[in-house]
Amino acid sequence: MTNGKPQILVINSGSSSLKFSVLEVQSESVLASGIAERLGTAEALLKFSGADAKKIEEPLPNADHRSALRCIIHHLGASLPNEVAAVGHRIVHGGEYFRDAAIVDEEVVKRIEELSDLAPLHNPPGAQGIRVASELLPNKPQVAVFDTAFHQTLPPHAFHYAIPAKFYSRFRIRRYGFHGTSAQYVTQELARRLDRPLGDLQLLAAHLGNGCSATAVKLGKSIDTTMGLTPLEGVVMGTRSGDVDPSLHLFLQEREGLNLREITDLLTRESGLLGVSGVSHDMRSILQAMDADNARAKLAVDVFCYRLARALLGLAAGLERIDGLIFTGGIGENSAIVRARVLQHLQILRPVINQRWNEHHGRENDGRITEETGLSCFVIPTNEELMIARQTAALVLSR
Ligand code: ADP
Repeated sequence: MTNGKPQILVINSGSSSLKFSVLEVQSESVLASGIAERLGTAEALLKFSGADAKKIEEPLPNADHRSALRCIIHHLGASLPNEVAAVGHRIVHGGEYFRDAAIVDEEVVKRIEELSDLAPLHNPPGAQGIRVASELLPNKPQVAVFDTAFHQTLPPHAFHYAIPAKFYSRFRIRRYGFHGTSAQYVTQELARRLDRPLGDLQLLAAHLGNGCSATAVKLGKSIDTTMGLTPLEGVVMGTRSGDVDPSLHLFLQEREGLNLREITDLLTRESGLLGVSGVSHDMRSILQAMDADNARAKLAVDVFCYRLARALLGLAAGLERIDGLIFTGGIGENSAIVRARVLQHLQILRPVINQRWNEHHGRENDGRITEETGLSCFVIPTNEELMIARQTAALVLSR
């Protein structure tokens, strides 16, 4: 620890990318950040922003995660006055085993690797990120922070699927939920802004990025969420369908001759906003197409907003009242139109939207976009890196 101001290196290791940031926990400032992308290809590139507005773009042809992180550490060494105290890793699936962030040891890495069955695209690169960082920074404590951990408070009636019980006991097939770090951050942040204890609040949080989910947080605990065993369940997303009739698989198999893997792929990569609009997976492009009278783009936005509103009302079944609805993620933070359309479908809760506050994304009003009467709605920018840094610092400093 340096100057009593711990800095945490946060790593988010994906299959072909490695995102990082260095945060000073006390001031919550970002000292450096960037991404090494297209790893394993000739076009691999490191984008690095450091202290004193230092910006670097460095080609790293055919670099793997190890050489990318080595390069990042090299640049950090040159641009940071102090060393980082610990490394926090974003890990997608913690199964039922990890109810909280965990200090990494060999057993923890093995458990993360074992959970790859449940998150084959995400857990292997996450575990690899931990192995590489432990090797290159052997004296720094490493902490794993799980997307699923915040949802481990779901009660059994919310996490069990209505399928034969043997599948839960054999394979732990159940609803897990994701985006937990984001839901935890935005609900804590709203409580701070309202100057009320989180333990007094009953909230709904809609995280709308490329992946989208919504969560009910009662007195600081997640009690239900829209994603399930995998991040495919729930509301409509950029390329993911969200909920469909499970019989769709058989239908498509018989009519299109697709196998189950191909159908899951189709629901994961070719559906959602992209599938309905035929324009893009990206909400900004779809809204532009809608403005140019593209009927399918308009339909995609309508389906997206209606299905989200419907899911939010479903989540409310676990609450006694709704003290606030939070919008976050790229779409939630930036699209006044989407927020307004979702609220149009929530008239049963009587939100009174303030056009100006909504247009300004709540920035002039501590996040609030609705009047005091009726459902209170807020825009709270998420900050998963900060949440990971906080949890990492809390674990490491408490040792
Ligand atoms: P990720 O889930 O990959 O972190 P983001 O949280 O950055 O993604 O969200 C990406 C989504 O946010 C995209 O659909 C993008 O079009 C949308 N988005 C970003 N800015 C705007 C905007 N100004 N208006 C509407 N949508 C936006």
